[in-house]
Amino acid sequence: MNKFTKAGIIGSVIIAVVLTIFALSNNANLSKQSNTEQNSIQNLSSTTSKLKVAASFFPLYEFARNVGGNKTEVYSFLPIGEEPHEWEPSIQQIEELKGTKLFIYNGAGMESYVSKFMESGEFQNMTFVKATDGITLLKADSAEDDKEILAQGGMDPHVWNDPIFAEQEVTNIKNAMQKADPANTQYYENNANAYITKLSALDNSIKTGLSNCKKDTFVSFHNAFNYFSNRYSIHDVWISGMAPEADVPPQDIQRVIQIAKDKDVKVIFSEDLVDPRLANTLADEVGAQVLVLSPLEGINQTEQQEGKTYLDKWYENLHNLRTALECQ
Ligand SMILES: [Zn+2]
Repeated sequence: MNKFTKAGIIGSVIIAVVLTIFALSNNANLSKQSNTEQNSIQNLSSTTSKLKVAASFFPLYEFARNVGGNKTEVYSFLPIGEEPHEWEPSIQQIEELKGTKLFIYNGAGMESYVSKFMESGEFQNMTFVKATDGITLLKADSAEDDKEILAQGGMDPHVWNDPIFAEQEVTNIKNAMQKADPANTQYYENNANAYITKLSALDNSIKTGLSNCKKDTFVSFHNAFNYFSNRYSIHDVWISGMAPEADVPPQDIQRVIQIAKDKDVKVIFSEDLVDPRLANTLADEVGAQVLVLSPLEGINQTEQQEGKTYLDKWYENLHNLRTALECQ
């Protein structure tokens, strides 16, 4: 009996201890849970107090993110891995614009949907910020034979591939953020200055990197480097037109092959977001290798996971251009 009673008491104590531990851990879980809830409430309130900014595609997203820092919530309207030319948003993507205060877009015919947004009158609380304001645009080379480009005004939109024009886009974005959120004027000013310093460093690296080269002509995949080539006094011959996914007529392919042979081109550039087969075929034809020259219109999923930036991508471009132009 005694044994039994003793065992009974020990058993009860064990049960009580287990129950207490269970209750304590439950309490701990509860308090953990309420902390989490509190955190998410705090996050929500800090998120809602941030300026919500949509940028139409990758380079503008990059510029806006750098200027806006932690005072803004910046997202890319175009899913990052997609090609922006001729892209149209879905109803759901338009729905996600709710609460967005600034919509930053490139203009110059890059985002055909923007004029429809403006005309619809459905975005009265959103300010449209055209990042190319104040930049003297070039006429699109292929404007005469491309109805799509003509309909968009016939201009070349690819200003972001020139770091100096990119600086102007950054300044326009900064001005818009300051106007929308005057309490953080100095913050946006400092961030914009810091990023412009990085763009100036890129400009210097390109100038130095391309200062002593055997060749002055490169073959790009689509016509995205006019501003860039003008800035650094080099020439590009493109395979596709203003958009990378357009059909390329056989006579255009012949033209590129001829120039590539005349100029003894040893590198044909492909792009990160397009099918490389056409570039491969051309390269075989002229006995060249294929490298990537990104038009910075987006990045792929792996690069997104790695956190690749506009600047990272431009330094990679510079490396490949130096190979193509045989620079010292
Ligand atoms: Zn393009």
